[in-house]
Amino acid sequence: MPTKSKAAPSRKPIPIIDLGKEYLSLKKKIDAALDRVLRSGSYVLGEETRRLETELAAYCQVKHAVGVNSGTDAVLLALRALNIGPGDEVIVPAMTFIATAEPVMQLGARPVFADIDSQMYTLDPRQVEARITPHTKAIIAVHLYGQPAEMNALMKIANTHHIPLIEDMAQAIGSEFEGKKVGSFGRMACLSFYPTKNLGACGDAGMVLTSDEQLAFRLQRLRNHGARVKYDHEEWGYNSRLDEIQSAILRIKLQSLDRWNRKRIDLAKEYTRRLSKTPIDLPATAPGRTHIYHLYSICSPQRDALRDHLLQSGIHTAMHYPKPLHLQTAFKSLGGKIGDFPHSERLAKETLSLPLYPQLSMEELCRVAESVETFFRSKET
Ligand SMILES: *Cc1c(COP(=O)(O)O)cnc(C)c1O
Repeated sequence: MPTKSKAAPSRKPIPIIDLGKEYLSLKKKIDAALDRVLRSGSYVLGEETRRLETELAAYCQVKHAVGVNSGTDAVLLALRALNIGPGDEVIVPAMTFIATAEPVMQLGARPVFADIDSQMYTLDPRQVEARITPHTKAIIAVHLYGQPAEMNALMKIANTHHIPLIEDMAQAIGSEFEGKKVGSFGRMACLSFYPTKNLGACGDAGMVLTSDEQLAFRLQRLRNHGARVKYDHEEWGYNSRLDEIQSAILRIKLQSLDRWNRKRIDLAKEYTRRLSKTPIDLPATAPGRTHIYHLYSICSPQRDALRDHLLQSGIHTAMHYPKPLHLQTAFKSLGGKIGDFPHSERLAKETLSLPLYPQLSMEELCRVAESVETFFRSKET
């Protein structure tokens, strides 16, 4: 252990995210909404959820939104709505959270991994095209870290091969591709309101977006035991309903979403400005895309040492994600091995997410940036 760094050890730690601060910034409104819902006596799939669905559909420029239990269930129900099952293949990026691919396994279908672009970290369209077979029943594109995937090329492939594309936009609500909101490109799009997401509930919640009315009906049925009319179960489904408390809180936070996303973009710009002289790979945004920085993830071959250095100054970081999906034990049966997807594997080894959330102060950001600079300066000498 090196001796305590000069960076005053008494200074307050900087967490990777501070959800308590987010709540305090809206405390009055949220408390009033909770009071209203609790008094109403209507707690599951009621008026708040219906309104949230309408508001989110409009926000994401689609016709329908169906609230569900979680982002994971949103993916599961979207795949079920496409009748995906045993014998089917679904193309997913090798670098994403496991929830993109897990539902494919749950339905008895096969996740087929594809590598990401080396600079943008989103699904590489050429990799997708190379993996299409007669069994391919869907493609899931992930807008990783908040940056839209290459939607022109991906939609072209999906349309040419008549394969539905699902957007996993758990990390990217509000981001745009050539002026159009993500979520409005694919046959369906999946949202997560897990508390740490850009629009986060105070528990689990998710949503599926679509402009296809038939799919919306099917999703409404699937989330509620296969019944659109109570006790008339047309098919087997799930208990994947959205509750009124989460919906009421999300409606309040939705009003702040654009402001928060702008704040994230400003903070990201400041990080990028301050860190441009260090040897790390900074997040890149492709022309025509807005990146709403759900995560500010940098890349460095010295990631682990940098992470330790930051932690010693009280700065918390995270890795999204330290292991790509094809190397996860859970997917061992698929036969993935080291070397299959070099860009995903490099990102897993080098990625580091710095603290970035709308309530992060400029002073805190400066402390993080300074600590990163100090690390690399000490390497030079
Ligand atoms: C968070 C996340 C999910 C899953 O959402 P939950 O609400 O946690 O189930 C799916 N995909 C991606 C890319 C995510 O980041």
